[in-house]
Amino acid sequence: MQVKSYPSQEELLKVYEWFETIPTVANLLIWDWDLETNIVQWNDVIYTMYGYSHGEVEDSFEWWQKNVHPDDKDAVGASLDAAINSGKMIWSHEYRFKRQSGSYSYSIDKARILRDSQGKAIRLLGVMQDISARKTAEHMAEQNQKDFKYLAASIPQLIWVARPDGYHEYFNKQWLEYTNQNFSDSRDIDWKKIIHPDHYDKAWKLWERSLKTGEDYEIEYKLCNGTTKEYRWFLGRAIPIKNEKGKITKWFGTCTDIHHQKLTTQFQTFLSQASKILASSFDYKETLDSVVKLAVPEIADWCSIDLMEDGELELIALAHKDPKKVRWAKKLRSTMPPDLTRNTGVAKVIQTGKSEFYPVITEKLIKDSTKDKKVLALIKKIGLSSMMIVPIIVEGKTIGVIQFTSSESKKHFLKQDLQMAEGLAVRVSFAIHNAQLYDQAQKVENRFKSLYESNIVGVIFTRTDGTLISANSYFLDMLGFTEEDLQNGINLKEQTPIDQKQKQFEYIKELNITGMLQPFEKEYIRKDGSKVPVIVGSVMQDFDKQEVLSFVLDITERKKLEQRKDEFIGIASHELRTPLTTVKGYIQILERIIQQMGDDKLNTYVKKTNVYIDKLNSLISELLDVSKMQAGKLQLNYTVFEIEDVILDTIDAVQSTIRSHLILYKGGTNKKIKADRNRLEQVLTNLLANAVKYSPKANQITVETKYENNEVIVSVKDSGVGIPLTEIPKLFQRFYRVEATAEQFSGLGIGLFISSEIIQRHNGRMWVESKESEGSTFSFALPAYREK
Ligand code: ADP
Repeated sequence: MQVKSYPSQEELLKVYEWFETIPTVANLLIWDWDLETNIVQWNDVIYTMYGYSHGEVEDSFEWWQKNVHPDDKDAVGASLDAAINSGKMIWSHEYRFKRQSGSYSYSIDKARILRDSQGKAIRLLGVMQDISARKTAEHMAEQNQKDFKYLAASIPQLIWVARPDGYHEYFNKQWLEYTNQNFSDSRDIDWKKIIHPDHYDKAWKLWERSLKTGEDYEIEYKLCNGTTKEYRWFLGRAIPIKNEKGKITKWFGTCTDIHHQKLTTQFQTFLSQASKILASSFDYKETLDSVVKLAVPEIADWCSIDLMEDGELELIALAHKDPKKVRWAKKLRSTMPPDLTRNTGVAKVIQTGKSEFYPVITEKLIKDSTKDKKVLALIKKIGLSSMMIVPIIVEGKTIGVIQFTSSESKKHFLKQDLQMAEGLAVRVSFAIHNAQLYDQAQKVENRFKSLYESNIVGVIFTRTDGTLISANSYFLDMLGFTEEDLQNGINLKEQTPIDQKQKQFEYIKELNITGMLQPFEKEYIRKDGSKVPVIVGSVMQDFDKQEVLSFVLDITERKKLEQRKDEFIGIASHELRTPLTTVKGYIQILERIIQQMGDDKLNTYVKKTNVYIDKLNSLISELLDVSKMQAGKLQLNYTVFEIEDVILDTIDAVQSTIRSHLILYKGGTNKKIKADRNRLEQVLTNLLANAVKYSPKANQITVETKYENNEVIVSVKDSGVGIPLTEIPKLFQRFYRVEATAEQFSGLGIGLFISSEIIQRHNGRMWVESKESEGSTFSFALPAYREK
């Protein structure tokens, strides 16, 4: 039999020490409640745990009860009653217990219920623990969760949370609404319906890599709107959430809509790439092909450019990502050209020069646009969903269109797509315009080049100071220069005869004012010193640089011909004059004999013959004068006399031969001049004869003299047919007659030439003022004679 052994005194003491020490070290508040006396005993932890000092803690149930949080009191009481009365061995409850400081701590209280042999509870032996820290953490976590959900619901981003293994355990409202997915377990989500096929594989690969490596996840992809089926660009990001040990506990992901920014940058990139292509060559048909290719499939499924050629729209470029479809569409287009008489689509854009925008192409829209069954079937086949047609405008004229069409992508163009399309059209217009200008310039340059190289005319670039910048071989040959001479420098001023330098100076002045010079005659001095007569026409090429382009024609042959003509006129008139003088002599003898005979009739005939001989004589004299002037052989016999003397004498002489007009004289300067009297008479007679001849309906002519600025001015005024303004500069040229009146009035066109030459030889000037149908005033000015 085994003898029951009792613990020794020492052993009991040890147990007691444990009992005292362990709870203190473990921070366990131990209490012992005697139900009968209601006395509660506490161990010392009550002081450290709740901050009470000795004396503040009472050994009673009431004290404990008093310190339970008022809101928890009932629940704690009820649970105690229930535990005690139900025969349970263990009671446990969480409640708030008042600290000495007045604040409450979350505590968990657990007790063993000791019962007597009848099962009646007599004592509760309990352990109380402060769990405030844990409670606060739990509370915060709860609050965080609430805050997160609130935040997730209120921001525009699509948000999701996944477990470390990638299982999606949370999506915010926005995500669910955008994707419009129906699922109870996230493993059932059909991601293929959400992520664009072009981005699907990449997205998963990246996600798997992140799950493996713990690296952040980032991607730009298109996600499908589950309701509208439209794809939009999103920036997808996910970051791992790690615990204090660095272990990933969750993945937090966002999808931010970057569609607008993405399109803007996409458009900008597209437009700048298009600009680069367009600027790369002047062969715009080739560049346009590259531009439409650039637009598919990112901007549109189809892109095409048509240009007007001979009143019809020609397809210049067409692109689709599938080359087979391009071939098909081109073939189709050749059999079905667009009908430009319609009031929709391409035709309307061509007519109005404004864009046509069809963001959503509905069945009705298609049906309204055409009745042609073939076309309808075709549109159905292509599956049009959206379209933009923008005009290509050059110099205010619509010369073509750019079409963007969306079909299989089901994309609907937006306002900003249209802006981009119009931006492209502007760039295309510029490119075409530039190419056209370049083409024109090229043509002009080619024409000029062939002229330059043709050797039928001299072409030179000079500076107004005479420096020869470049010259074709015709010009160099004409002046006897070589290319080498040109390289060494030629100045055309030095190649101009001294007597023409003043004129040259005036020409340059005119060139600087009007920018051009009508062809004029001049001479150049050749390298060998001989002279070459030329006609020069010039235009100012560059006012700043004073560069002039001139055409120079060698007129040596013409001059020789003229010279021969002058010589002929000289000889002919000389040869005619000798027999005429003899005829005149015989007529005068005849006249005398007839006068003596007293036959009046014969007398009249002889007198008339005499008048015509005089006319013939003066004509021949004039012709002789012309040839003398050309040869520079006109002699002048100067005397000093009063101008009025000559004028009055001449008026008398002319008036005696005409009855149709009365010649009035105004003025009287009493000024003397030094001149050839006969030649001056010749000038006046000429002007008076013209005044009579060219004013057949008038009956008066006025001659006036004035003295102004040391000049004597004589003018002859008629009220006749007048002279067109454009004819005036040529009037004093040899043999020049105004064509409009030449048939009506007989003449040779040399009178004014001789007159102006005579006046010029006297250092005077001659000019005319005239108005058609109102009359003319011919004037000349001569320097007054100053007695020494
Ligand atoms: P001609 O009179 O012999 O033709 P001129 O040299 O005298 O030759 O005149 C040249 C041209 O000038 C004329 O043909 C004429 O057209 C025009 N003309 C000259 N004087 C007058 C005038 N007083 N009124 C109108 N036209 C004139």
